Amino acid sequence: MTLHRILHRVSTWILPQSIVGILVATVSPALAGDAPPHWTYGGAANPSHWGELSTDYSLCEQGRDQSPINIQTPIAGSPQPLALSYGSTPLTIVNSGHSIQVNYAPGNKVKLGGEDYELLQFHFHTPSEHALDGNNAPMELHLVHSNAQGELAVVGVMIEVGDENPTIDTLWENIPPSGQTQTINGVMVNVSDLLPRNQSYYSYSGSLTTPPCSENVQWNILTETVEISEEQVEAFMGLYPVNARPLQPLNGRMVESHRR
Ligand SMILES: [Zn+2]
Repeated sequence: MTLHRILHRVSTWILPQSIVGILVATVSPALAGDAPPHWTYGGAANPSHWGELSTDYSLCEQGRDQSPINIQTPIAGSPQPLALSYGSTPLTIVNSGHSIQVNYAPGNKVKLGGEDYELLQFHFHTPSEHALDGNNAPMELHLVHSNAQGELAVVGVMIEVGDENPTIDTLWENIPPSGQTQTINGVMVNVSDLLPRNQSYYSYSGSLTTPPCSENVQWNILTETVEISEEQVEAFMGLYPVNARPLQPLNGRMVESHRR
């Protein structure tokens, strides 16, 4: 094992095991030889090669429970609601080089199966990563949560073109340069303003859709969509024309539908 390789392994082990740690690590100024391998959506490091870029990314190639998936023929699950309770957060916005992300202040939770998951951050993909009956939406919003054990749950929302959304305007107006994070004094946002009224959802067990593609991520995709304007979609695509991982095989997994 080369020194470079050892240094990289050590840096990987000491990263916090949360999604915030993983995402922040990709935007921190890298010490020479210390950065996680660079991955992209196009070019030589595109999603079909993620698993070859690092042994830390091997699940991207060898995992059996990967995300995103095409949601088709779900089975009926319990009608339990997603107990979402999100307040406002001071706007801390990250241009990670992979997406636009908003980091959330502590204390905002979703209850899943009787257990609390705290909202860490939300971010966007274009086009949508998940598909419904083979159809993609123009964009997809991911709300990333963690429980006390560090297990992850993501709430996904399909974004269609329609009416302008004022919260999206606030976000897009405050995007920092690539690789940077900024907190905007005096500006608050509430992710509830980006959610549909009806919170019926599909659930399945999957993975992170970015390296290292870690599994045992509890996915909850809302069945109702939200709208943002065509200009707002185009503004995002001006920075990130495509930042979606292709669909992954279901491998016998069940998708449950939870209606309310
Ligand atoms: Zn995502």
